[in-house]
Amino acid sequence: MIEHTSILNYIDGRHQEPTNGEWFENIDPSIGKAYASIPDSEAQDVEMAFQAAKRALPSWSNTPAAERSEWMLRIADAIEERLEAFALAESIDNGKPVSLARQMDIPRSVANLKFFATSILHWNSEAHSSDHQALNYTLRKPIGVVGCISPWNLPLYLFTWKIAPALAAGNCVVAKPSEITPMTAFMLTQICEEIGLPAGVFNVVHGTGQKAGNAMVEHPGIKAISFTGGTTTGAHIARIAAPMFKKLSLELGGKNPNIIFQDADLEQAIKTTIRSSFANQGQICLCGSRILIHRDIYDAFKKMLVEKTSAMTVGDPLLEGTKTGAIASEAHMNKILSYIALAQEEGGKILCGGHRVVVEGRCQDGYFIAPTIIEGLGPNCRTNQEEIFGPVVTLQAFDNDDEAIALANATTYGLAASIWTTDLKRAHHVASKIESGIVWVNTWLMRDLRTPFGGVKSSGVGREGGWDALRFFTEAQNVCIALE
Ligand code: NDP
Repeated sequence: MIEHTSILNYIDGRHQEPTNGEWFENIDPSIGKAYASIPDSEAQDVEMAFQAAKRALPSWSNTPAAERSEWMLRIADAIEERLEAFALAESIDNGKPVSLARQMDIPRSVANLKFFATSILHWNSEAHSSDHQALNYTLRKPIGVVGCISPWNLPLYLFTWKIAPALAAGNCVVAKPSEITPMTAFMLTQICEEIGLPAGVFNVVHGTGQKAGNAMVEHPGIKAISFTGGTTTGAHIARIAAPMFKKLSLELGGKNPNIIFQDADLEQAIKTTIRSSFANQGQICLCGSRILIHRDIYDAFKKMLVEKTSAMTVGDPLLEGTKTGAIASEAHMNKILSYIALAQEEGGKILCGGHRVVVEGRCQDGYFIAPTIIEGLGPNCRTNQEEIFGPVVTLQAFDNDDEAIALANATTYGLAASIWTTDLKRAHHVASKIESGIVWVNTWLMRDLRTPFGGVKSSGVGREGGWDALRFFTEAQNVCIALE
């Protein structure tokens, strides 16, 4: 018999155990111990979810947008009412400071649902009058049953970022959160059951990427996959999905540059660079992991950055004052530590951090790493090429704008970049030359949900956000009416 702390699949409007009866442990990374169990779902659970979604599709896709919107707003309101419980759950599941979950993750999840619940009310399609010979108009139809697969770093935030536009556009959804952080997705499905969301509209299958995730991607009836995760997994998904001509949105990894010019407002640049380097323990795809600094200010910037970073304390995520919590899993902590070792083998010098931290007391077995700054590495070494996805940044110096641009573009990734300068011309010029989906000037992580979000090169395919997300989750059909 399972215990009440077990996470359950949500299929056809009901919470259910996995059909194979198999479970695995859900670990609290701040204490390194299991605290719940997760269904180890397989293809048959995905099939059940798909069949439920397929049955619900005719009704949901024909439900007026205003009604779909109301369902979604009800879910958003219920999360908002339980914000504290959701923030606590996210912190325990992921290791992030509860204050961050309370200020960022959960409010943003509510905002995602509200944003797309109301966007759909203003969504319109195009008409083209063709020289009095014909009138063309475009219908935007839901795709059908779609799959949403999300990662562990911003669990509910990225989960809702996908399911909200999918549902708003009239699709039925089969979704899988990361096996590492499934709790808040489970709590969301408890809300769906409570409010009586029509059965089958939204289904969540928990389990590993290899089994449940793969089964979703391989399923011929799931017509689109919206995926956020690592580049290697993205490539694997693309290989499976391409012969079935599935629509794919792939939001993948990054190795983002943070460029500090000699004319930058240094105080602001330092303050924000600390955040862009170490927020969420550096586990945000948008974190700047390569800090490029003009040689004239390199020493001064480095000194201030190292001083402030060394003063950061790593601690129990549940304590109010904690700004740096645990790494999301033991495997990920070991991966980050192996990159720190690699950086040293490659000739890098650790300026601060560089080691695991033992947080005394309740969290003594947790997975913590000190914020780490490394210098002395060239642009082509593995440390500066591969995504580490942890609290580790490198410093490199440049002499002029062209060199800064070349260094910024010297990776296979192209997700985001930050530029720090008070020279407007320089900001426009450099921004246009950087190969990335997003460029921030004198800021970081400032997000307007209407803007296109996504990367170039190995950082992904497609754009999320605003109309882009609604376009992804719909098929355009051109209707041409002869007028002559
Ligand atoms: P993974 O690629 O390991 O996993 C992402 C999701 O895909 C998880 O739900 C995972 O399940 C699932 N998955 C794994 N293997 C398969 C498979 N074969 N078929 C289908 N699904 C699968 O990434 P992480 O969870 O480790 O997340 C970190 C990565 O996400 C980083 O590279 C980061 O840059 C990227 N990311 C990108 C963002 C962007 O917007 N561009 C935003 C945030 C993160 P499970 O966990 O159960 O194995």
